[in-house]
Amino acid sequence: MPDPSRRVFDRLLNDVRPGVSAKGSGARGRRWVYVPEDQLSARIGPLADATRPRGAVIIESRWKASLRPYHIQRLAVLWSNQRQFALELARDGVDVLYITSNEPFATTLEQALAGELGKRMKRDACERLLCMKPAERELRADLAGLVERGALEYVPHEGWLTTPEDFRKACPTTPWKMDSFYRHVRQRTGVLMTPEGEYIGGKVSFDTENRKAWPGTPPAPKPVSFAPDEVTREVIDMVRRDCAHHPGTLDDTQVPATLKDAEALWAWARKQCLEHFGAYEDAMSVRSRTLFHTRISTLVNMQRILPATLVADVEKMNIPLASKEGFIRQVLGWREFVRHVHDATDGFRTIAGKPVATLESPGSAGFERWSGKAWATPRGTSDRDLGGATPAHLSSQTGGTTPLPPAFWGAPSGMRCLDEVVSSVMAEGWSHHITRLMVLSNLATLLDINPRELTDWFWCAFTDAWDWVVEPNVLGMGTYAVGGIMTTKPYVAGSAYIDKMSDYCEHCPLTPGKTCPITRLYWAFLARHEKTLAGNPRLFMPMNALKKRSAAERARDQQAFVHVRDVLVAGKRLAADQLGAW
Ligand SMILES: Cc1cc2nc3c(=O)[nH]c(=O)nc-3n(C[C@H](O)[C@H](O)[C@H](O)COP(=O)(O)OP(=O)(O)OC[C@H]3O[C@@H](n4cnc5c(N)ncnc54)[C@H](O)[C@@H]3O)c2cc1C
Repeated sequence: MPDPSRRVFDRLLNDVRPGVSAKGSGARGRRWVYVPEDQLSARIGPLADATRPRGAVIIESRWKASLRPYHIQRLAVLWSNQRQFALELARDGVDVLYITSNEPFATTLEQALAGELGKRMKRDACERLLCMKPAERELRADLAGLVERGALEYVPHEGWLTTPEDFRKACPTTPWKMDSFYRHVRQRTGVLMTPEGEYIGGKVSFDTENRKAWPGTPPAPKPVSFAPDEVTREVIDMVRRDCAHHPGTLDDTQVPATLKDAEALWAWARKQCLEHFGAYEDAMSVRSRTLFHTRISTLVNMQRILPATLVADVEKMNIPLASKEGFIRQVLGWREFVRHVHDATDGFRTIAGKPVATLESPGSAGFERWSGKAWATPRGTSDRDLGGATPAHLSSQTGGTTPLPPAFWGAPSGMRCLDEVVSSVMAEGWSHHITRLMVLSNLATLLDINPRELTDWFWCAFTDAWDWVVEPNVLGMGTYAVGGIMTTKPYVAGSAYIDKMSDYCEHCPLTPGKTCPITRLYWAFLARHEKTLAGNPRLFMPMNALKKRSAAERARDQQAFVHVRDVLVAGKRLAADQLGAW
């Protein structure tokens, strides 16, 4: 039966599908490729070889969407990119089988192999379905049985810029350091290196030059918007209709879906953002959600723009070296590094040789507590190892974690920094790096929020989240839940940092140094975790300052922590008059 939610798409796909399969005459030697959701590129892997006839099977999965309360912007961006990619392939002569499914990916592929896909492969004398090794651990776990039985064969994922060998060479033992990895990769690839093998500019990183607050000038670029075509429009309408129980709002103008859209976004980023990217990389503002960040991560993580393109293009640009190096460090350094950490720990299921407990099923990040509605996990999850690992390095020392408060889903907390960032995430499924690290994760860490719940929240709420990238960033960098295996200290700060790097405090009913509790939360955090953090050389100064804090001050710090935690967990708003002068 035709699927009414893909009428436009099916019409266009049938119009462009190469006559071969429609007429039943195949092409011997055609390679059939299974294209996961996040491998939407014909420039890498078996689809890149256009000298041979190609076939592609793509699965648009309702099952995957129902694993977690994903933001509706994410679903719209994901499915419209899958459909646009299918059309681009078909226009390029690829025989495309596009399946909409309510089952796990492996079940869907098995059914397809026994049905239409099997028929087309037989017709083309193709014996083995190929797939670039998925970046997502979750998908690898789902497909494991098919791979073991030989029904699906992995070939290397050509989207990565570095190899596990790079990681092993640069980071032979824990603690793994991004800095060592990045140095090694710069030297091995020759990116930003002189012909003599020196770092261009005389040093590997210009990070210390990239810490300016943004005073309002240079003007921040206006984010580029996209006019949805009829294919994207059909997806947007479908998501609005069928996924209304998912969180977030859907902005029709922020669904870059075609290859042209992806190229337009990258052109905008190069022209408008990159010159000032470095200097204002750590700044935050109510006046601009984006500042000079590129917003490219969602499309890069689906391979609509290749990381290799980002690095090559930026290396050639005539922009300040601190911006150029700063951006390349994010893509060639951090992005690759976190992926290797995720692989090496099997998604943090093993840390320093010790197994870590996992949830039984995908976490919904306190969505029920906020929405009052249970999130029903779909069929086919129990035997698929889909629950995330639950490391809790810090909270395991204090014997408890705080559930994720409704403030992260949009209930006002009374703290402008948190409310501003959460509302931008709920509106767009995105916020930039420093807001993720120094507002969302910082406050969560200061409140001992359960790191797994926070990770699942990021996974649900951001359009660029996939397990290999969200888990290391939240469990590793954001919350120190995995201890010091990939970062040297917890990234925590009091209100002075937020006030210095943003204008949130100017617009907040709570005043830093007076009614704002964040600095008290900071001291209470250091005190609660004093034993664990005492020997950390990077925390020498604050731990020393903590020692000098009077018993009365420490008691007030702890009081502030308990008050803020309890108010937020109850879904209420902090009020200056209840806080007193902290
Ligand atoms: C708590 C936390 C959670 C995060 N979750 C994700 C996530 O789910 N998905 C995701 O892609 N990034 C994540 N990041 C990293 C980073 O915040 C985003 O990649 C970035 O904000 C995306 O916006 P942008 O494209 O404008 O990035 P820019 O600031 O323009 O940076 C350029 C590119 O560098 C890469 N990059 C930069 N930092 C990182 C990093 N730490 N890890 C991986 N790639 C990086 C991204 O591809 C990004 O597009 C997270 C960071 C933190 C602190």
